[in-house]
Amino acid sequence: MEQLKNYINGELVEPVSKKYLDNYEPATGEVYSFIPDSDERDVQSAFDSAKNAFETWSKTSLENRMLILMKVADGIEKRMDEFVAAESKDNGKPQKLARAVDIPRAVSNFRFYASATQHFASESHHMPGVGINYTLRHPIGVVGCISPWNLPLYLFSWKIAPALATGNCVVAKPSEITPYTAYLLSQVCIEAGLPKGVLNIVHGLGNKVGQAIVEHENIKAISFTGGTETGKRIASIAAPMFKKLSLELGGKNPTIVFADCDFEETVKQVVTASFSNQGEICLCGSRIFIEKSIYEKFKAAFVARVKTLKVGDPNEESYVIGAIVSLQHKQKILSYIKLAQEEGGEILCGGSELKLAGRCANGYFIEPTVIEGLDYKCRTNQEEIFGPVVTLTLFENEEEVLIMANSVKYGLSATIWTNDLKRAHRVAEKVEAGIVWINSWLVRDLRTPFGGVKASGVGREGGWEAMRFFTEPKNVFIKS
Ligand code: NAD
Repeated sequence: MEQLKNYINGELVEPVSKKYLDNYEPATGEVYSFIPDSDERDVQSAFDSAKNAFETWSKTSLENRMLILMKVADGIEKRMDEFVAAESKDNGKPQKLARAVDIPRAVSNFRFYASATQHFASESHHMPGVGINYTLRHPIGVVGCISPWNLPLYLFSWKIAPALATGNCVVAKPSEITPYTAYLLSQVCIEAGLPKGVLNIVHGLGNKVGQAIVEHENIKAISFTGGTETGKRIASIAAPMFKKLSLELGGKNPTIVFADCDFEETVKQVVTASFSNQGEICLCGSRIFIEKSIYEKFKAAFVARVKTLKVGDPNEESYVIGAIVSLQHKQKILSYIKLAQEEGGEILCGGSELKLAGRCANGYFIEPTVIEGLDYKCRTNQEEIFGPVVTLTLFENEEEVLIMANSVKYGLSATIWTNDLKRAHRVAEKVEAGIVWINSWLVRDLRTPFGGVKASGVGREGGWEAMRFFTEPKNVFIKS
């Protein structure tokens, strides 16, 4: 069986421990490869190579940085089929989704930040008769990038690309649950001629490799995407060390449906926003609030459509929902479905594990599940489930729905469905979220700020936000 390797100092290397972890295919429940069980010694060697590389990379011309990042993007694109198959096998998502979203987006991330090198500018502030301030934007040095399993290469590259574009060198750790496309990326970087040590990828467990990156005294910035509890832990270590921190954390996003929405289109889009990637997207709407006058009609149409979603082998084109990422996560989701029932919820469809025949007989599948009749304050409606489970809640008016939508500790994204322009603006302004979509979901422009408020995170990714995060401003004043 294949053994993945770390990517350190431009080479694919074994972990110092020579130990490996099992890597499962969620659709079959079988181990299909092994992941380096790295530790702080591998992180140190990745740091040393990154530090050496920084001397040159930070001074490499912006044009050359752009050209090499473009080559990395081209390298992924050339191996599209391989990346698509790997992402699907590792995560359980349908290949169709990886081909439409994950891998093209990883390519775009590299292209977007490659071109950003050409346009990013610092500011100057003129004081008439006194002098002028200009602000330099230095790369920080060696930075750490840590990413989760739900959109593996998409989110990994979303951090790495701006870090490299701004002249930093990187020690990166993909999720140990979905390491494969990061491994393919290291091969592409070698093929593209990325100078050795500029990017280092260390595989392994969060509490070993991730923690070693966060605790390293000379890794000066951490860009992290993952769970809120992990984010809290990272902040508690990194903040007293005065590291720059970007934390993209969990969510419990509201979907707010007003009676004057475009009914058919809203039902269709809300189903997609609920169950894409098995509901394992931090931006999925898991609490659906529906205005009283259309509640019953919406519920019927929504449930009918959810029942048409076909769950099955991610390799097959006909299925829109694949496997849950791991056995542990499957159990967590099922425990929340049980909790919802204990809390008085009624299951309108789904509610169980799905047993398939053939190749996927031991895979981790859950039926798309819709629940109603729960109080908005109950645990099912307050805690992140991160799976194919949504709740329906009736509301009377705008004021009430805002109280319910804003009642959770999270504040990542929200969607609003209405044809009343004034109301759309009003609710968008009042809903506690970093990202709001009106009559749409997951339309992404890579220039826009991306991130959440409250327990959904600190800082923003995307566009100039990431270029600023990965640079240290220095103001210089010259007397006239
Ligand atoms: P997780 O927090 O368990 O793991 C994320 C990464 O952190 C992994 O690489 C993991 O190995 C590492 N890690 C774990 N413990 C660590 C530690 N002590 N120190 C350093 N690193 C450590 O999250 P997950 O289960 O992989 O991902 C799901 C979560 O991610 C959900 O909560 C989801 O909402 C969130 N998420 C947020 C966004 C966003 O943009 N806000 C995007 C995707 C996913």
